[in-house]
Amino acid sequence: MEIKGFIENSLVDYDGKISAVVFLPNCNFRCGFCFNQKLVLEPETLETVRLEKIEEYLKSHSDFVDAVVITGGEPCMHPELAELCRKFKKLGLFVKVDTNGSFPGVLKKLAEENLVDYIAMDIKGLFEDYPKITNADVDIKKLRESASFLMNGKIQYEFRITAVPKFVNSETIEKISQLLKGAKKVCLQRFRPENAMDKKLRDAKSYTLEELQELAEILKRFIKDVRIRGA
Ligand code: SF4
Repeated sequence: MEIKGFIENSLVDYDGKISAVVFLPNCNFRCGFCFNQKLVLEPETLETVRLEKIEEYLKSHSDFVDAVVITGGEPCMHPELAELCRKFKKLGLFVKVDTNGSFPGVLKKLAEENLVDYIAMDIKGLFEDYPKITNADVDIKKLRESASFLMNGKIQYEFRITAVPKFVNSETIEKISQLLKGAKKVCLQRFRPENAMDKKLRDAKSYTLEELQELAEILKRFIKDVRIRGA
């Protein structure tokens, strides 16, 4: 596994913590709205960041950086993920993993071995719409299993909904709210069309802050902590 991106400090990737962000390549989905298309489609064109260099940085900034966020792509596709988390945990850092939810077994293993402190799982729309949203073969049972594991487990988590108007509207949000009823935290993210993988989506409209607030109000009927990001 090669690391294909590194951000030294972020205030927005792990709520309440200053985090470094590590990007892993490849993904089993092909979401039209994905803005990390190079990482997904042609990671070989991106420079590899040496793990030793990242570790050195983290060691020398341990008074400043609290956490590492491992994102992608889909980090859980990589068999070396557990080992990577272990290395960061050994440095005394909190570890967050971002996932599309396709690999519940990996999430469970990371949790069992205390290798992860926070998991963010995407909810891209209604589960039945996933094949057209992700342009991939999707095992919906696995998505349900991941969501249920998070909602019934001990690890801190959030569900993230990228509000692409084509897939997420007041009607679908109502149904998603029922699905996630009782979840601890849900974040609605503004869709950024500029770099969408699907060129046809690049001119698409994204919701205004007011529209996102209306969607958030629907979620709030079922979920205590609802946040809006990127607006
Ligand atoms: S799951 Fe995430 S990384 Fe993978 S294609 Fe979709 S948006 Fe991109």
